[in-house]
Amino acid sequence: MTSEATPRAAMTRVLLVEDERAIADTVLYALEKGRYQSDWCATGEAALEALARRPAELIVLDVGLPDCNGFDLLRRIRELTEVPVIFLTAWSDEVDRIIGLELGGDDYVTKPFSPRELVARIGAVLRRSSAAPKSPSDALSGSFVVDDERLEVFFGGEPLQLSLYEYRVLTLLIGRPGKVFSREEILQRAWEDPGMITDRTIDAHIKAIRRKIKEVDPAADPIRTVRGVGYALKPEGASG
Ligand code: CA
Repeated sequence: MTSEATPRAAMTRVLLVEDERAIADTVLYALEKGRYQSDWCATGEAALEALARRPAELIVLDVGLPDCNGFDLLRRIRELTEVPVIFLTAWSDEVDRIIGLELGGDDYVTKPFSPRELVARIGAVLRRSSAAPKSPSDALSGSFVVDDERLEVFFGGEPLQLSLYEYRVLTLLIGRPGKVFSREEILQRAWEDPGMITDRTIDAHIKAIRRKIKEVDPAADPIRTVRGVGYALKPEGASG
Protein backbone atom coordinates (compact mmCIF):
# COMPACT_ATOMS: atom_id res chain seq x y z
CA MET A 1 0.00 0.00 0.00
CA THR A 2 2.23 2.76 -1.24
CA SER A 3 1.42 6.03 -2.92
CA GLU A 4 4.96 6.56 -4.04
CA ALA A 5 5.34 7.90 -7.56
CA THR A 6 8.82 8.33 -9.00
CA PRO A 7 11.88 8.19 -6.74
CA ARG A 8 12.50 11.67 -5.41
CA ALA A 9 15.31 11.14 -2.98
CA ALA A 10 15.36 14.63 -1.52
CA MET A 11 11.70 14.53 -0.55
CA THR A 12 10.44 13.92 2.92
CA ARG A 13 8.63 10.66 3.55
CA VAL A 14 5.49 10.61 5.69
CA LEU A 15 3.90 7.41 6.98
CA LEU A 16 0.11 7.67 7.32
CA VAL A 17 -1.53 5.14 9.66
CA GLU A 18 -5.28 5.42 9.15
CA ASP A 19 -7.85 2.67 8.70
CA GLU A 20 -10.55 4.75 7.00
CA ARG A 21 -9.94 4.63 3.30
CA ALA A 22 -11.74 7.89 2.50
CA ILE A 23 -9.72 9.86 5.05
CA ALA A 24 -6.51 8.19 3.93
CA ASP A 25 -7.20 9.10 0.30
CA THR A 26 -7.73 12.80 1.02
CA VAL A 27 -4.66 12.97 3.26
CA LEU A 28 -2.48 11.16 0.70
CA TYR A 29 -3.70 13.54 -2.01
CA ALA A 30 -2.88 16.57 0.14
CA LEU A 31 0.56 15.12 0.98
CA GLU A 32 1.29 14.62 -2.69
CA LYS A 33 0.28 18.19 -3.45
CA GLY A 34 2.50 19.29 -0.59
CA ARG A 35 5.36 17.44 -2.30
CA TYR A 36 5.75 14.76 0.34
CA GLN A 37 6.39 11.12 -0.35
CA SER A 38 3.99 8.93 1.55
CA ASP A 39 3.30 5.40 2.64
CA TRP A 40 -0.08 4.34 3.92
CA CYS A 41 -0.90 1.59 6.41
CA ALA A 42 -4.34 0.70 7.75
CA THR A 43 -3.23 -1.21 10.87
CA GLY A 44 -0.68 -0.88 13.65
CA GLU A 45 1.08 -4.11 12.75
CA ALA A 46 1.45 -2.99 9.14
CA ALA A 47 2.83 0.35 10.34
CA LEU A 48 5.52 -1.31 12.47
CA GLU A 49 6.51 -3.54 9.59
CA ALA A 50 6.59 -0.58 7.19
CA LEU A 51 8.82 1.39 9.56
CA ALA A 52 11.22 -1.50 9.98
CA ARG A 53 11.40 -1.83 6.22
CA ARG A 54 11.63 1.81 5.26
CA PRO A 55 12.11 4.82 7.52
CA ALA A 56 9.78 7.81 7.53
CA GLU A 57 10.61 11.35 8.61
CA LEU A 58 7.19 11.86 10.20
CA ILE A 59 4.23 9.68 11.15
CA VAL A 60 0.56 10.68 11.06
CA LEU A 61 -1.20 8.30 13.42
CA ASP A 62 -4.94 7.71 13.79
CA VAL A 63 -5.80 7.00 17.42
CA GLY A 64 -8.58 4.53 16.60
CA LEU A 65 -7.11 1.63 14.63
CA PRO A 66 -8.67 -1.81 14.11
CA ASP A 67 -5.88 -3.82 15.76
CA CYS A 68 -4.64 -1.45 18.48
CA ASN A 69 -5.01 2.09 19.67
CA GLY A 70 -2.65 4.80 18.51
CA PHE A 71 -1.33 5.43 22.01
CA ASP A 72 -0.10 1.87 22.44
CA LEU A 73 1.21 1.91 18.91
CA LEU A 74 3.20 5.07 19.63
CA ARG A 75 5.00 3.31 22.49
CA ARG A 76 6.05 0.56 20.11
CA ILE A 77 7.00 3.08 17.42
CA ARG A 78 9.19 4.82 19.97
CA GLU A 79 11.21 1.63 20.35
CA LEU A 80 12.06 2.00 16.67
CA THR A 81 12.32 5.68 16.00
CA GLU A 82 12.11 9.16 17.51
CA VAL A 83 10.63 10.84 14.43
CA PRO A 84 7.75 13.29 15.04
CA VAL A 85 4.23 11.87 15.34
CA ILE A 86 1.00 13.78 14.69
CA PHE A 87 -2.14 12.13 16.10
CA LEU A 88 -5.45 12.11 14.28
CA THR A 89 -8.21 11.95 16.87
CA ALA A 90 -11.96 11.69 16.69
CA TRP A 91 -12.92 12.81 20.18
CA SER A 92 -11.94 15.63 22.47
CA ASP A 93 -11.35 13.21 25.36
CA GLU A 94 -8.60 11.66 23.27
CA VAL A 95 -7.07 15.12 23.04
CA ASP A 96 -7.21 15.32 26.84
CA ARG A 97 -5.35 12.03 26.99
CA ILE A 98 -2.70 13.17 24.53
CA ILE A 99 -2.06 16.32 26.53
CA GLY A 100 -2.60 14.85 29.99
CA LEU A 101 -0.40 11.80 29.56
CA GLU A 102 2.25 13.62 27.55
CA LEU A 103 2.37 10.65 25.26
CA GLY A 104 5.23 11.92 23.19
CA GLY A 105 3.16 12.92 20.17
CA ASP A 106 4.34 16.14 18.63
CA ASP A 107 0.97 17.52 17.63
CA TYR A 108 -2.62 16.42 17.07
CA VAL A 109 -5.46 17.19 14.66
CA THR A 110 -9.10 16.49 15.47
CA LYS A 111 -11.47 14.92 12.96
CA PRO A 112 -13.02 16.25 10.84
CA PHE A 113 -10.02 18.23 9.69
CA SER A 114 -8.82 19.98 6.59
CA PRO A 115 -6.10 17.98 4.83
CA ARG A 116 -4.42 21.26 3.93
CA GLU A 117 -4.28 22.18 7.59
CA LEU A 118 -2.76 18.79 8.39
CA VAL A 119 -0.07 19.30 5.75
CA ALA A 120 0.67 22.75 7.19
CA ARG A 121 1.04 21.17 10.66
CA ILE A 122 3.36 18.53 9.23
CA GLY A 123 5.57 21.28 7.81
CA ALA A 124 5.61 23.11 11.15
CA VAL A 125 6.45 19.98 13.16
CA LEU A 126 9.25 19.03 10.75
CA ARG A 127 10.76 22.51 10.96
CA ARG A 128 10.63 22.32 14.74
CA SER A 129 12.13 18.84 14.95
CA SER A 130 14.96 19.53 12.51
CA ALA A 131 15.96 22.45 14.73
CA ALA A 132 16.18 20.18 17.78
CA PRO A 133 19.30 18.06 18.20
CA LYS A 134 18.81 14.32 17.99
CA SER A 135 20.41 12.26 20.70
CA PRO A 136 20.77 8.62 19.71
CA SER A 137 23.41 8.31 22.44
CA ASP A 138 20.47 8.25 24.86
CA ALA A 139 20.38 4.51 24.19
CA LEU A 140 20.30 2.32 27.26
CA SER A 141 23.06 -0.22 27.54
CA GLY A 142 22.10 -3.49 25.93
CA SER A 143 19.35 -2.03 23.80
CA PHE A 144 19.11 -0.87 20.23
CA VAL A 145 18.31 2.60 18.98
CA VAL A 146 17.60 3.12 15.30
CA ASP A 147 18.55 6.44 13.73
CA ASP A 148 16.53 6.19 10.56
CA GLU A 149 17.77 9.49 9.15
CA ARG A 150 21.37 8.35 9.09
CA LEU A 151 20.46 4.68 8.56
CA GLU A 152 22.39 3.76 11.67
CA VAL A 153 21.70 1.41 14.54
CA PHE A 154 23.20 2.11 17.94
CA PHE A 155 23.81 -0.69 20.40
CA GLY A 156 24.55 0.28 23.98
CA GLY A 157 24.98 3.83 22.69
CA GLU A 158 27.63 2.83 20.13
CA PRO A 159 27.01 2.97 16.38
CA LEU A 160 27.21 -0.38 14.59
CA GLN A 161 29.07 -0.04 11.28
CA LEU A 162 26.41 -1.80 9.23
CA SER A 163 26.09 -2.14 5.49
CA LEU A 164 22.73 -1.13 4.01
CA TYR A 165 21.43 -4.70 3.93
CA GLU A 166 22.75 -5.47 7.39
CA TYR A 167 20.86 -2.36 8.52
CA ARG A 168 17.68 -3.58 6.84
CA VAL A 169 17.94 -7.08 8.29
CA LEU A 170 18.65 -5.84 11.80
CA THR A 171 15.92 -3.17 11.81
CA LEU A 172 13.47 -5.82 10.60
CA LEU A 173 14.27 -7.94 13.68
CA ILE A 174 14.25 -4.88 15.97
CA GLY A 175 10.78 -3.97 14.69
CA ARG A 176 9.28 -7.15 16.17
CA PRO A 177 11.34 -8.31 19.16
CA GLY A 178 10.71 -11.97 19.87
CA LYS A 179 9.12 -12.71 16.51
CA VAL A 180 10.84 -15.47 14.55
CA PHE A 181 11.56 -14.36 10.99
CA SER A 182 12.11 -17.14 8.49
CA ARG A 183 14.99 -16.70 6.06
CA GLU A 184 12.39 -16.39 3.30
CA GLU A 185 10.63 -13.57 5.18
CA ILE A 186 13.89 -11.72 5.78
CA LEU A 187 14.82 -12.12 2.15
CA GLN A 188 11.47 -10.82 0.91
CA ARG A 189 11.47 -7.81 3.18
CA ALA A 190 15.06 -6.65 3.25
CA TRP A 191 15.97 -7.01 -0.41
CA GLU A 192 14.30 -5.14 -3.29
CA ASP A 193 15.30 -7.91 -5.68
CA PRO A 194 15.52 -11.16 -3.75
CA GLY A 195 16.04 -13.18 -6.94
CA MET A 196 19.79 -13.56 -6.53
CA ILE A 197 19.81 -14.02 -2.76
CA THR A 198 20.15 -17.40 -1.07
CA ASP A 199 19.63 -18.53 2.51
CA ARG A 200 23.40 -18.49 2.93
CA THR A 201 23.44 -14.78 2.13
CA ILE A 202 21.00 -14.17 4.99
CA ASP A 203 23.16 -16.26 7.32
CA ALA A 204 26.25 -14.30 6.26
CA HIS A 205 24.51 -11.01 7.00
CA ILE A 206 23.39 -12.23 10.44
CA LYS A 207 26.93 -13.39 11.14
CA ALA A 208 28.29 -9.96 10.21
CA ILE A 209 25.68 -8.21 12.37
CA ARG A 210 26.56 -10.43 15.33
CA ARG A 211 30.26 -9.73 14.88
CA LYS A 212 29.62 -5.97 14.80
CA ILE A 213 27.49 -6.17 17.96
CA LYS A 214 30.25 -8.14 19.69
CA GLU A 215 32.75 -5.46 18.72
CA VAL A 216 30.67 -3.08 20.84
CA ASP A 217 29.89 -5.54 23.65
CA PRO A 218 31.67 -8.92 23.58
CA ALA A 219 29.15 -10.37 26.05
CA ALA A 220 26.07 -9.41 24.02
CA ASP A 221 24.20 -12.02 22.01
CA PRO A 222 20.82 -10.45 21.21
CA ILE A 223 19.98 -12.48 18.09
CA ARG A 224 18.56 -15.98 18.50
CA THR A 225 19.01 -18.65 15.83
CA VAL A 226 15.90 -20.76 15.38
CA ARG A 227 17.20 -23.99 13.89
CA GLY A 228 15.71 -24.81 10.51
CA VAL A 229 13.66 -21.62 10.44
CA GLY A 230 15.46 -18.34 10.82
CA TYR A 231 16.22 -15.66 13.36
CA ALA A 232 14.64 -13.58 16.09
CA LEU A 233 15.67 -10.73 18.32
CA LYS A 234 15.64 -11.90 21.92
CA PRO A 235 13.11 -9.86 23.92
CA GLU A 236 14.72 -7.07 25.92
CA GLY A 237 16.57 -8.29 28.96
CA ALA A 238 17.46 -11.64 27.43
CA SER A 239 20.53 -10.23 25.73
CA GLY A 240 23.99 -10.06 27.26
CA1 CA B 1 -9.92 5.04 12.74
